[in-house]
Formats: sequence, structure tokens, C-alpha cells
Amino acid sequence: MSLYRDKGVVLRSYKLGESDRIVVIMTENFGKVRAVAKGVRKTKSKIGARLEPMSHVDIQLYRGRELDTVSQVESMGSAARLHNNLEKLSQGMSMLEAVDMIAEDRQPSAHLYRMLVGGLTALMEQDSPVMLPAFYWKLLAAEGVRPQVRNCIGCNTEEGLVAFDVVGGGVQCRNCRTGVSISEPVLLLLQQVLGGMLITALAQSESSASFELAQLATQAMEHHIERRLRSVAMFNPRH
Ligand SMILES: [Zn+2]
Repeated sequence: MSLYRDKGVVLRSYKLGESDRIVVIMTENFGKVRAVAKGVRKTKSKIGARLEPMSHVDIQLYRGRELDTVSQVESMGSAARLHNNLEKLSQGMSMLEAVDMIAEDRQPSAHLYRMLVGGLTALMEQDSPVMLPAFYWKLLAAEGVRPQVRNCIGCNTEEGLVAFDVVGGGVQCRNCRTGVSISEPVLLLLQQVLGGMLITALAQSESSASFELAQLATQAMEHHIERRLRSVAMFNPRH
């Protein structure tokens, strides 16, 4: 069996048999990896403690046909601080979940790894109601489905943008409107998040606009994931 080493973030883990766990890890160079961590549930295993979801690890694995096997794990930083804050914990879990849905097994996607590390770090360091929606929008942009937020997706006008169409992928004017209505502060936040003014957007305090932005981001992310799962099923019937 060949041994390899990489950095990664633990996305989730589940029980296997009496004493083992399967961990799903977003690695930097080898894509999403599923691996067995043997014996971690039997004793107070150090390896087990390092393989909690959100943990950032330096990990050594044996390559297997379906599942790899965890050989060594070093912690590169714990997300323990997030565990004291229910709100942040749930935002962090949502980041993991989105990356888990998007990343493909053993498909190198260093950008997903980097975005996740960046997102979780930012989450630990800063309180912002825009954190999770901004992460979703950035993730969508990285996936090649950056929404159009400066011009109407129907007629290209920059004036009087009042709606957002999740399916169409962007903002709309009054005449072209088919999507949900958005307020001006939400439009501004969207433009900031996707237009290189993330720091300004993250400094926003909680408001109805940040709430609306989060709802919209969740809808856009769900739509993207659904479409992606459908196309995977179509091209890869064994999934
Ligand atoms: Zn229009």
C-alpha cells in the first residue's frame, strides 16, 4: 500500500463497526478523501480527538481501493474555540457541509481546501452576520457560477435593480423581474461581497439586510448543489 501525506480539514466522520470511524477529509492536494481511522473509538485515542469535524490536520494515509487508512495525524489547529459558540459552530458546520457537497472524491481541488481553511479561520476571528453568506457566494463564484450583481440579467441595465433570480443567477430590474425581491442594502452587500469589498461587507452589523442576504445565499447554494447532484447522477449512474 502506498503512503501519502497531506494537509486537510475534517468534514465529517461516522462510525464503522465496533471501534473504527470513517473520516471524510478535504485535503489540499488529493481532493476529498474517505479514510478509516482504526481503533479510535475503543480507547481515549489521540488520533480520534484530532479527527473531529472542523479539525485542521496534517495527515498521513495509506491509499486503499475505496477507503484509505489513517496512519498518523498531527493537529494544525483546533476549532475548539468554535465549540463554545453555538451560532458559530453551526455556521462552521454549514461551511463543511457545503464543501462536502461540492467536492468530489479524490478530485484535487486545492481552492476548496484553501477557502474552507480561510472561512473557518475568519469565523474564529471575527463576528459577522455576513460571514456564512459571504462564504457561500465566494464558493459559488469559485464554482464558476458567480451571480451577476451589477446589471440586470434580463436587459443589462444598472438602474432600478429590485430582484434576484436564483435560477437565472443574478439581479433583475423591475421589468425583467421573476425572482424574489431584494432591498437596496442587500444589493449593496451582494456587490461588496462579490466585488472585492469583502472586509466592508463583513463589518456590517446584524440587520434585516444581513438576514435577507443569508437567506438568498442559502437558496443559491441549495440550487447549485441540487443541480450538481442531478448532473452527477446523469453522467455517473452508479452514484
Ligand atoms: Zn432588466
